[in-house]
Amino acid sequence: MFYNTKDTQPRKGRGKNKQARIRPIIRRIVMVSTVLTVFLCVIYGIFYTGSTGKKAKPLTLTGEPEFTVNLLTPNPYSRPQMALEKVKGIVVHYTANPGSSAEQNRDYFEGLKDSHLTKASSHFIIGIDGEIIQCIPSTEMSYASNDRNVDTISIECCHPDADGKFTDATYASLVKLTTWLCGKFELTENDVIRHYDVTGKKCPLYFVEHEDAWEQFRNDVAGR
Ligand SMILES: [Zn+2]
Repeated sequence: MFYNTKDTQPRKGRGKNKQARIRPIIRRIVMVSTVLTVFLCVIYGIFYTGSTGKKAKPLTLTGEPEFTVNLLTPNPYSRPQMALEKVKGIVVHYTANPGSSAEQNRDYFEGLKDSHLTKASSHFIIGIDGEIIQCIPSTEMSYASNDRNVDTISIECCHPDADGKFTDATYASLVKLTTWLCGKFELTENDVIRHYDVTGKKCPLYFVEHEDAWEQFRNDVAGR
């Protein structure tokens, strides 16, 4: 037993030396992989998630548009229930109310039945996060595009800032919805116009001030 103890001691010492040599290597491996993991998380965070930190949906310009149908109460100020017999075009607008949501704009149109402030509405409203609300059936007229109310479908788009530029999510929904409506009413990108093309009003502002962006939008619709 004594011999055994003596015998094992040097071996134990060798084991300790080996461990002492391996420990810093393991520590280094753990440190490097931690740093690498944090770095990859940051890169992923920057490129794939929004500023809120929630996972951003990948934006695609194809596929069926998803929308909520929340029709206005029939009334002479925003839903006169006049028949839209033949749809010959689609008119794009902007709300000119930076930061307002699709729901708030829908509620504004709804409120006109009581406030009688003006006559205004839109078939569709697209929000800053790309959400779409339908306010008026496509068989009825909206009050949005002056002389072209009688034969067009109107789309109002929300925008975060005064320059009227749409978010990527709003833009993606606008392309999808417009493409879908073109298919439904047998129209082409040439039948898609701005409010500006009807009255000269700077609406939608960004597409009036950036003709190239407007052309790109019509190309994106044509490309579908
Ligand atoms: Zn307009």
